[in-house]
Amino acid sequence: MLNQNAPFGLYINGQFRPSSSGGTIPVENPKDGRIIAHVAEGEAADIDAAIDAAEEAGKIWAATPGAVRGDIMHRAAELLAARLNDLVTIEVDQIGRPRREMSAQLGRLPEWFRYFGAIARTHEDTVPPFGGNFLNYTRRVPLGVVGHVTPWNHPLLILTKKVAPAMAAGNTMVVKPSELAPITPLLLGDIFKEAGVPDGVYNVVPGYGATAGLALSSSPRIAKIDLTGGTETGKAVAAVAGHNLTRVAAELGGKASVVVFPDTPIDRCVAATLFASFIAAGQTCVQGARLVVHRSIHDEVVEKLVARATAIKIGDPQDMATQMGPLVSAKQRDVTERYVKIGLEEGATLAAGGRRPEGGAFDNGYYYTPTIFTGVTNGMRIAQEEIFGPVVCVIPFETEEEAIALANGTEFGLATSIWTRDLARAHRVAHRLQSGITWINDHHRIDPCSPWGGFKMSGLGRENGLVAYEEYTQIQNIIVNLSDETFDWYARDGVEKRYS
Ligand code: NDP
Repeated sequence: MLNQNAPFGLYINGQFRPSSSGGTIPVENPKDGRIIAHVAEGEAADIDAAIDAAEEAGKIWAATPGAVRGDIMHRAAELLAARLNDLVTIEVDQIGRPRREMSAQLGRLPEWFRYFGAIARTHEDTVPPFGGNFLNYTRRVPLGVVGHVTPWNHPLLILTKKVAPAMAAGNTMVVKPSELAPITPLLLGDIFKEAGVPDGVYNVVPGYGATAGLALSSSPRIAKIDLTGGTETGKAVAAVAGHNLTRVAAELGGKASVVVFPDTPIDRCVAATLFASFIAAGQTCVQGARLVVHRSIHDEVVEKLVARATAIKIGDPQDMATQMGPLVSAKQRDVTERYVKIGLEEGATLAAGGRRPEGGAFDNGYYYTPTIFTGVTNGMRIAQEEIFGPVVCVIPFETEEEAIALANGTEFGLATSIWTRDLARAHRVAHRLQSGITWINDHHRIDPCSPWGGFKMSGLGRENGLVAYEEYTQIQNIIVNLSDETFDWYARDGVEKRYS
C-alpha cells in the first residue's frame, strides 16, 4: 500500500517537503524487519522553518472564533472516521500491534476532535466578583506555538490527545513524532487540510530526539512543550525547556499495579490481568506490570493466568485473529530479554514465557512470549523499573494496608486498578493511592473527558478533559473601571485613596 520509493516529506505549512539536509529515516515493519517507507529526517533548521510557519498561521488561527475552530475540528473528525481503515493498516505496519487492537483504538480518535471542538465552541470565560465600580473578566487566550514530542507506542492516539486541545484553544503546533512511527502523524496533515485547518497550524518534523526533539524543546519561540515518553526523556526535555521558562507537560513512564482483593472471582481477575498486562505486548505506559494479589487466591490465579497467557495467539499483526504481535523493535525486545534475565538473577520464578517464539515468520520479527514472574518482591528491579514488554510480576499481599503500600511502592504514579466488589473498600483504597488514574474493576479505560496524567515521576500536567484545554491557554484578566469620574491619586483633597 505504501510506495517505498517515495519518501514522505516533512509536513510544513501545508506542504510535504524534503528536509534541509536531504536525509531520510527508514521505517521498519517489526513483524519482518522490512522497510515500509522512508520519511524525511528533520533537524534544527527544519524545526525553525516549521516554527516560522506556525507563527505566521497563529495570526489567523488565534483570531478565528472558537465556534469556527469547532466546526473545522468536527469536519476533521468526520474525515478521520472515513479514513480509519487505511490509518489502522499503517499503524499496524509501523509498530506491530495487532489489527484488532489498533482498530479499537483508532475508532475512538474522532471523539477527541468532537469533544475539544465542542469546548472551543462553548467554553465560557469568568467574571470574578471584583467589587466596587468595576467589571472584571477573564479571557483564555492561546499560548502561541506549541511543540508536541510523541512516542511510538500509540502514535495517533497520543498525538490526538495533544493536538485536539491545542488546536481547539487556538494554538499552532510543531510535532516531532517518534522516528519509529512517523507516517500516520504526517498523514493527519492531509486530513486537517481538507477539513479547512489553515496551512501552518499543524506541522510535522520527523527526526531523532537528540536533534529535532532537542531543537524543538530548547527553542525560545515555543510557548509549551508537551511530551510523552520515558521519565529520563521527560527530565531532559524539562531541563532544556526550563532555560526559556517554556511550559512543560510530560506524560511519562509507569509501573501500574493491578490490585486484586479476594472477593474478586478468579476468572475475572485472570481476564483483568491479561487485558491489563498484555495489550500492546505490554508496551503501554499504564500496563498492569504488577499483579498485586491476595495470598489466599494467589496460587489459583497464577495457575489459570499461566494457562490463559500461554494460549494467547501470537502472529501476523495484520491478521484479525492475532492477539499479540511483535514488539516494536529489536531494541525493545533486547530490553525485555535483559529484564527477564535480571528477574531470574534476582531469584524470581519464571511461571510462563521468557522466550522468543520460534520457527517460520517468528524468526524474522521481534516477537516475544507473554511472560509471568512469581516469587517477586517489591524491591526487585523487575518490580520497580519500566520494562515496556509483555512481562507481569505477581506479588502477594495479606492486608489492605500492605496492598496500598505495594501499589504506592514505586517511583511512578500513573495508574492503578483495584478489583473488589466491596464498594467502601474500593473507594477507601483509591483515595490512598498515589496514582493519577485509578480504575475500579477495570483497566486501560480512557475518554476525551477524563483527565489523564501521573503523580510522582510519571509526569506533569494532564491530557484530556477541560483541564487539558485550559492548560493550552493563558488567562488574560481585564479590569474595567465603570466610573466616568476622574481618579486623582495626587489630589490634595483630604479624601483617603484606595487601590481597590
Ligand atoms: P522516549 O522517551 O524514548 O521518546 C519519546 C519521544 O521523545 C520520542 O519522539 C523521542 O525521539 C523524543 N526524545 C528523546 N530524547 C529527547 C530529547 N533529549 N529531547 C527531545 N526529545 C527527545 O520514549 P519511547 O518513544 O520509547 O516511548 C515509551 C515511553 O513513553 C515509556 O516510558 C512510556 O511509559 C512512555 N509513555 C507514557 C505515556 C503516558 O501517558 N504517561 C503514554 C505512552 C508512553 P526519538 O524516538 O527519536 O528518540
